[in-house]
Amino acid sequence: MTRPALTAGLVAAMLVPAVAGSAAAASGAPPGAASSGAAVSSAAGRGPVTAPRNATAVGTGGAVASVDPVATMEGLKVLEAGGNAADAAVATAAVLGVTEPFSSGIGGGGFLVYYDAKTTKVTTVDSREAAPATFTSRTFTKPDGTPLDFFTTVTSGLSVGVPGTPALWDLTARRYGTRPLSQLLAPAEEVARRGFVVDDTYRQQTLDNAARFAGFPATASVFLPGGSAPAVGSVFRNPQMANAYHALRTLGVDTLYHGAMGQAVVATAQHPVTTDGSTVYPGQLTMGDLAAYDARVLAPTRTTYRGLDVWGMPVPSSGGIAVGETLNLLEAYDRQTGTPLSKVDEVQYLHRFSEATATAFADRNRWVGSVPDVPTQALLSQPFANERACQLFDPMTAHARPLPFGQPDGSSSCTPTTAAQTPAGIEHGTTHLTVADRWGNVASYTLTIEQTGGSGITVPGYGFLLNNELTDFDFVPITPGVPDPNLPGPGKRPRSSMSPTIITQDGRPVMGVGSPGGATIITTVAQVVTEYLDRGLSLKDAIAAARLSSRNGAEQAEPALLDSAVGTALQAMGHQLVSTPEIGAATAIVLRQDGTMHAAAEPTRRGGGAAAVVDPR
Ligand code: GLU
Repeated sequence: MTRPALTAGLVAAMLVPAVAGSAAAASGAPPGAASSGAAVSSAAGRGPVTAPRNATAVGTGGAVASVDPVATMEGLKVLEAGGNAADAAVATAAVLGVTEPFSSGIGGGGFLVYYDAKTTKVTTVDSREAAPATFTSRTFTKPDGTPLDFFTTVTSGLSVGVPGTPALWDLTARRYGTRPLSQLLAPAEEVARRGFVVDDTYRQQTLDNAARFAGFPATASVFLPGGSAPAVGSVFRNPQMANAYHALRTLGVDTLYHGAMGQAVVATAQHPVTTDGSTVYPGQLTMGDLAAYDARVLAPTRTTYRGLDVWGMPVPSSGGIAVGETLNLLEAYDRQTGTPLSKVDEVQYLHRFSEATATAFADRNRWVGSVPDVPTQALLSQPFANERACQLFDPMTAHARPLPFGQPDGSSSCTPTTAAQTPAGIEHGTTHLTVADRWGNVASYTLTIEQTGGSGITVPGYGFLLNNELTDFDFVPITPGVPDPNLPGPGKRPRSSMSPTIITQDGRPVMGVGSPGGATIITTVAQVVTEYLDRGLSLKDAIAAARLSSRNGAEQAEPALLDSAVGTALQAMGHQLVSTPEIGAATAIVLRQDGTMHAAAEPTRRGGGAAAVVDPR
């Protein structure tokens, strides 16, 4: 394979028209960030940053896979310069905040799963957005107890949680990295200042949000330059966001949690300024909430699958539990039927996969949320999966949805309960990156601002969107009378589906994987893992394969699957498939015993991602 030319595309600067909202943006430089940093002071005059878009890369010395070529390139540069996987993950994520500002960034949160080659241990960092201290279980209800309208709440200050992403970057750089945060955020500042070339996906995401964005002058001035979505091929610059990164670089994350950036976030969330003077639900965030926030190092979830260890994200995510239970169920079905997943036909594979994920969703919806008594070990135990398989799995027929949730109490009963819940199922934005370095450290990092476009509200002068993560809480109990662990509460972190995952064999990493896509993240990660481990697909093909997302209510299938003979056969078994154009946009790295790294990003969904290695083979 030819080594890609990973240099900034200076020539492109002369070919593409610059249309971004630089003029409007320049008016809002935050205090302390008025002048550019030395490293990027002349950046704006140098044209946009560009990079090649290769979906796969094979080689040694380190690898990066993300949804965006520029982010991947900047992460790779960190590895080439001797940084480790943690350094590169932070740098890549920060650039994604610029080039994927509707899915990630300073105003959001996320989860890192990290394999440390020195200790051979996996740990995780939780930077989930937290609710204000004033939140109660009734914050998202009207006085009569009925839920607030979901979409009205999304585009409001009320949905904004304490941003956690900068705290994760800071903690990760200090704890696992080898470079100061100020250095790791420099590429993001530069990309924001110099700009990047708008592609179809960026334009479409802007168009999808144009009406909401137009409702907030601070958002319109940054993301609707000249009043509309930027043209494909034009250069989008965000000098305000460059200033925000500069402030983080020079003042540290204290500017968010204790300083001027935090004051701007609080003022914006509490008093969202609208274009026509109409009101949206005000937020409740205070400086006290920001000061109380911390990114947390948590022990990962663990389950075994095919003799490998699968490490995932614990509460507040449900990702590690639900992916792990799915894999345990698939092993239970093997035993129940006497035929392993690797030996069945495609229809039976997807049938089993669908039943497993639906069962895992039934259980996570009942038992998982930011509450003290989540039965994580029980949900991840093989005996529980065996019990659930015995209760619900029929190799010939899809069980009627919704499946009842189980009782992870060690009872080993083959009789299912009758209590079933139908969750709401909405999928949104988010972004995932995977990094490995020459020492064998691996970072699997999923980050988000929740909905594509978050709350739609931009912090004036700082150019980043605030999250709407608090709408991941259940507004009211999903089943009256059944305890719901995911109701809002003071300082509480809403349940997530994000599933950054690392798989090891005898203590050595063999795979890092993750995806965006809301609740479909869990099914996408489980599908990529099983397509690769059980079905014999290459990593590239496992990521590209047509997807099924069965979540104990909606059972979505991509057209390539739904409209095939396999889709017809699944429907004949009782699967009620709903056509969905795209599910997920995964990235992954496989680490082979011979030291080669196979990095792969989504080839087409969301416009395709980019993978790169330090020394291509
Ligand atoms: N808020 C979602 C979650 O944490 C991620 C955003 C999305 O992709 O929907 O599960």
